[in-house]
Amino acid sequence: LFLAFEGGEGTGKSTQSRLLVEHLRAGGYDVVHTREPGGTPGAEAVRTLLLDPPGEGWGARAEALLFAAARADHVEKLIHPALDAGKIVVCDRFVGSSLAYQGGAGGLGRDAILDLHSFGSEGLIPDAMLIVSVPPAEAAQRLAARDGNDSDAIGGRDEAYHAAVAKHFELLAAQDNPSTIAIDGTGKPDAVQARILTAISPLLKD
Ligand code: C5P
Repeated sequence: LFLAFEGGEGTGKSTQSRLLVEHLRAGGYDVVHTREPGGTPGAEAVRTLLLDPPGEGWGARAEALLFAAARADHVEKLIHPALDAGKIVVCDRFVGSSLAYQGGAGGLGRDAILDLHSFGSEGLIPDAMLIVSVPPAEAAQRLAARDGNDSDAIGGRDEAYHAAVAKHFELLAAQDNPSTIAIDGTGKPDAVQARILTAISPLLKD
């Protein structure tokens, strides 16, 4: 079973992925918890290139290729083997993030991202893409409440970019696709977790 958390910065998806992993492990499931970009030594090296780019930063196409390359390594070396071994994989971000960031806000479009994903990761799609959203003002408040600078963010992006990301996550969540599940991220972490558990419980039964 492959579960991916998706959403913009400040939506609480990383906290929720951690809570879900704890819950599943307490229930006796063998769970691999991983993240994107990253998850393998090669993909973590690509993450460093993305977050701390040499020179003036990446253009939209190079950025999309780097995300796809990181994902290809992650899928080949960690996600596929874990799924083949019957484990549950919980991944903080996956191709949904590329669709919203590089495809949507970055302007490359859905087809380009899916083409890269098809080549890089044989088009692997999670059983559930949990798209966590909160109103933009709340996400901004949560980010501001984090101490210091968020060193895990790609720099040089303005409010309009993040608004476009949020809009594209909304479009993704609204799609009539059985693997996408919209999660209301407002309220206390426990309340959000309860919504997530309700949403995924049918998947745990098989
Ligand atoms: O989720 P996390 O904070 O680890 O993501 C690291 C950075 O990479 C963030 O700035 C996030 O917005 C960005 N990102 C991106 N496109 C993706 C995945 C992550 O721009 N496909």
